Amino acid sequence: MKTERAPEGFRVKPRSVDQIRKIALNLKDMLIRNRDYVPIVPLLEALAYNEVIDYEIIEDCDIESDTWGYTLLGRNSEGGIIPFIRIPNKVYAGALKGDGFHRFTIAHEIGHAILHKTDLLINFIRAERSTSHRKEKKWYEDSEWQANTFASELLADIRSITTADNEITISNKFGISRSAARTRIGKLIRDKKRLNQRALKSLYNK
Ligand SMILES: [Zn+2]
Repeated sequence: MKTERAPEGFRVKPRSVDQIRKIALNLKDMLIRNRDYVPIVPLLEALAYNEVIDYEIIEDCDIESDTWGYTLLGRNSEGGIIPFIRIPNKVYAGALKGDGFHRFTIAHEIGHAILHKTDLLINFIRAERSTSHRKEKKWYEDSEWQANTFASELLADIRSITTADNEITISNKFGISRSAARTRIGKLIRDKKRLNQRALKSLYNK
């Protein structure tokens, strides 16, 4: 039997696709200009170098087998609070080799770090994580949905996708898995009902 999907993350500040896209593309444009393929490991390193985040590669055996990474809070060199990403070696090594699934995982954790710093802090202070949005299926308030949307917008830049593209060209051009490419196309088709290509270009081209 097919079960209807529901949000699986924690409740965070609501964010729309447009808001998340803007944040992801601003970050991309700041660090990588005029390239379709995002070198995700160097991007992670650049963010750490600039103390926007901190990260640690851990042994595969030190993380649950069904977990691919997580983001907590850490401290920068001056004692300020910054997001702290932990990823197992298999994900890091896979992303370095260009594996689409592992590249997406790192982009997803960067999404948590960039989008959810304040939410992480609030959760930490209250020592609780709300899941009240799950029942009502408020995707826009879900931490996992937001991080996945961020990863998808960062890795598969909407400005470089044309009607000539398909699952294979998108997967190859952006270094994402076939299934992530399929999801991307599905979402863009729904998106295009709201925005045409010209409107998108004027929105994001500086
Ligand atoms: Zn996550």
